[in-house]
Amino acid sequence: MDREKIRIALAGNPNSGKTTIFNNITGTRQKVGNWPGVTVEKKEGTIYKYGRELKIIDLPGTYSLTPFSIEEIVARDFILEEHPDVVIDIIDASNLERSLYLATQIRELDCKVIFALNMHDIARSRGIKIDAEKLTQLLNLPVLFTVGNRNEGVEDLLQKAIEVAESDNQIPQTRRVKYSKDIEKCIHNFKEFLESNADGNLPYNARWTAIKLLEDDKIVKRRILQKLGVNGPKILEEAKTHRSHIMSFFDEEPEIILTDERYGFIAGIVKEVMTTSRHRRVDISRNVDLVLTNRFLGFPIFFFFIWAMFQLTFSVGAYPMEWIDSGINAFSGFLAGLLPPNLFRDLLLDGIVAGVGSVIIFLPNILILFFCIALFEDTGYMSRAAFLMDKVMHLIGLHGKSFIPMLMGFGCSVPAIMATRTLENEKDRILTILITPFMSCSARLPIYIILAGTFFPENAGTVIFSIYIAGIVLAVITGKLFRTTLLRGTDAPFVMELPPYRIPMVKSLLIHMWDRSKMFLKKMGGIILVGSVVVWGLSAFPRNIEYSQNYAQKIHQEKKAMETLIEAAPNEEAAELKHKHQAIIEKLEHEQQIETTEKSYMGRIGKTLAPVFEPAGIDWRGSVALLTGFVAKEIVVSTLGVLYATGDTNENDAEVLKNALKKSGMTPLMALSLMFFVLLYVPCLATVATIRRETGSWQWTVFSIVYSTSLAWLMAFVIYQGGGLFGLV
Ligand code: GDP
Ligand code: MG
Repeated sequence: MDREKIRIALAGNPNSGKTTIFNNITGTRQKVGNWPGVTVEKKEGTIYKYGRELKIIDLPGTYSLTPFSIEEIVARDFILEEHPDVVIDIIDASNLERSLYLATQIRELDCKVIFALNMHDIARSRGIKIDAEKLTQLLNLPVLFTVGNRNEGVEDLLQKAIEVAESDNQIPQTRRVKYSKDIEKCIHNFKEFLESNADGNLPYNARWTAIKLLEDDKIVKRRILQKLGVNGPKILEEAKTHRSHIMSFFDEEPEIILTDERYGFIAGIVKEVMTTSRHRRVDISRNVDLVLTNRFLGFPIFFFFIWAMFQLTFSVGAYPMEWIDSGINAFSGFLAGLLPPNLFRDLLLDGIVAGVGSVIIFLPNILILFFCIALFEDTGYMSRAAFLMDKVMHLIGLHGKSFIPMLMGFGCSVPAIMATRTLENEKDRILTILITPFMSCSARLPIYIILAGTFFPENAGTVIFSIYIAGIVLAVITGKLFRTTLLRGTDAPFVMELPPYRIPMVKSLLIHMWDRSKMFLKKMGGIILVGSVVVWGLSAFPRNIEYSQNYAQKIHQEKKAMETLIEAAPNEEAAELKHKHQAIIEKLEHEQQIETTEKSYMGRIGKTLAPVFEPAGIDWRGSVALLTGFVAKEIVVSTLGVLYATGDTNENDAEVLKNALKKSGMTPLMALSLMFFVLLYVPCLATVATIRRETGSWQWTVFSIVYSTSLAWLMAFVIYQGGGLFGLV
């Protein structure tokens, strides 16, 4: 039997509780994707209830439906073009006036609407009373109260939505936004003109089209031209006449007049339906803000939180990291015992398990970091941080909102770049995307730890800290540079939204944390798996290498000699001789390993690349490691391990690698330029893919790759050559 299908769209301001209600309705059965062609997140969930198939769509949060930001266009297009059976507008009842701007605009569209007055608990605690019945009468649509985070009223809301969706009632035409007499007359005339000139081909409802054309709405204009052929230009011409008519007697752009009138209408509604009791509870948020955004206290508190976040991420994360590490080692030891030594075993152990293991090991750090970020966001602190950083960010011509992606960049560039979606202005977004990768991501840290720990054992912490700072400084310089050249523009004045502080819901924290981590794991897991196998393949092939000497035979001889010694009586001398042979065997094995890597495909690539990197103080092994770092920065350390240390790095990797690095001829200065190169050069494949997706342009993606890599080379060159001039090594 075919179930009836109903599509329900959730609209509302950001932070009004849409996602909470969405999760309440759908449970966890949700699908996250992008709207085709644009990079705005789309959540969809299908549930079967009341004998029907209900498809719920969480539209992007917006304050209005003007076609100025991607979110607004997406939300509006969805309602206009996809015709959901009913739209639920989630309204923040504690912020009725602000929410009604979007609400009235939705009401003007040709669709069935219900209002959910969410955050009813907050409204009540602030002494705000809303007369739902009156609101229903005034706007001619159902109004219900909900408390999203306690799942109150959500079931009723759903039932009401189904009822409205299935009712035969046409969309109520009365009691929508009313404009002043002159404007209404203008709308009316133009509407008639539209109806008589469109031959029934109007893409949208006539009154709405008339209003939008009076407002000079780009998208509606384009649709009209597409859809109405020869009549299109005629209609736009008529719109122009009406516009200049309005302008002539209001002396203002029609869109401003209409916006003003909508606000007037809303102010009227609010006056009718809302009463605020005088005994308002003390506004806690405002008091908390007195401290947290205080001119003097704000920054220290903010830096403390950031410090605490990193502390938590790295020191607490270190424990589970160790467990996972030993788990992986045990697993790989188990597999090693199970399989006969052959190529397949090498692929499985050195390629797949080692490669994927290197990502999974970061999972605790990533989970903690994303948990902290979710906590900042859900409590409302994130926007305070952005507010604080606003002045600083203005130095690069960006505003405080860009700070959030940059902060997240210290964790991982992929979600950080996705976070730029909150920026309305296209140029701001691209600029932020270009500089975010300079925030040293957590995958680069192990590289610094190894290199700084080896070559600057006394000041490793300071060196690593300076690298992070260098990344920030170069991001600022880059931002300034591009802001005054490629991406010129004024930073649009804006008001930072300061939502009230809220005690976060554990469930929503976990969902936010998991959403991001899952994406990270999925992307990185896939790419790293492929990358590790490729890296392994390049270093394991070709198999038939012509060695400069017959290692196998020599090792065999030494072993033979040792066995003879063991058979002899265990006296002092024999033990010493045995030791000597042992050392020779190890040296031979080491040399063979080095020759194997040098002659492998990876070694050959490295040697080809070496001349490019040489002026920057990076040898062929470093070059190969950097190359593999394009797949994922996590691979760099293991590549260094393969190339510098001997094959068997299983026991105490880091120590073996450190010793090998010390003996390799690398100097502190070379290590420093390598670290700078790692900091700045092209981010990993997953990040590049994200940049492509979020900018929607190959040009910017290639530009970002070329710029960052050139900068990396230049900085490494300056450090290496400059240091050399001053006699540093
Ligand atoms: P969205 O931006 O519209 O998707 O809003 P979210 O669903 O992410 O909700 C923003 C915050 O408001 C979350 O911390 C929710 O836990 C909280 N929240 C949602 N509904 C209510 C409510 O009815 N009352 C209260 N006090 N908090 C709510
Ligand atoms: Mg949301």
